[in-house]
Amino acid sequence: RKPIVAIDGPAGAGKSSVTKMVAQQLGLFYLDTGAMYRSITWLVMNSDVRLTDEPGIAELANQATIEVTETYVKVNDQDVTQAIRTPEVTANVSAIAAQGAVRQVLVRQQQEAAARGGVILEGRDIGTHVFPDAELKIFLTATPAERARRRQKDLERMGQPAEDLAALEQSIAERDAKDSNRLIAPLRKASDAVEVVTDGMTIEQVVAKLVAMYRS
Ligand code: C5P
Repeated sequence: RKPIVAIDGPAGAGKSSVTKMVAQQLGLFYLDTGAMYRSITWLVMNSDVRLTDEPGIAELANQATIEVTETYVKVNDQDVTQAIRTPEVTANVSAIAAQGAVRQVLVRQQQEAAARGGVILEGRDIGTHVFPDAELKIFLTATPAERARRRQKDLERMGQPAEDLAALEQSIAERDAKDSNRLIAPLRKASDAVEVVTDGMTIEQVVAKLVAMYRS
């Protein structure tokens, strides 16, 4: 198969913007796996299934058609591109992503979607679980304060209600703690991943660094 690039890291580290641009420059397909967990979370929140009903959620996930592209996300043919980015979905996604049954369904879909390679995947467990044999593994991170500032700008750009920095930093820290402390496929730097701390770097600088690493 063609090469696979794994981009993992905590919330708000700039993974999405960086990954999209690297994909474009290297001619790789881009897969945002967080969008898949968000889609299932949105689906659950808009159904009668409870957030704690693991078998019920796994069944929803099994029957759902999730279409994640660079420009839009659809679940069962409904456009949820904006809907999966609300603070409500963001607050609930880690609880659902901690459930083994859901992960099993989504990880299988990710492995199938990227089986031929030539793909860059962004998530939390790509280098550790989804593609442990990826050719290039990056653990992209930044200090919590920097990540809160970036998330604030993202929300602004998406026309979402403003949130203050301290509150954002706290909700990011809470989500990271949940993602790092779960039992199944917790957020971890793979032992053979290269950690890139992006404080003080522009997106273009980060992209250039990753492109150079891929080519070397
Ligand atoms: O990357 P994003 O912030 O959209 O991810 C949303 C959530 O989805 C994460 O906080 C995490 O709980 C979950 N996730 C995961 N494994 C992945 C990608 C995302 O558990 N590979």
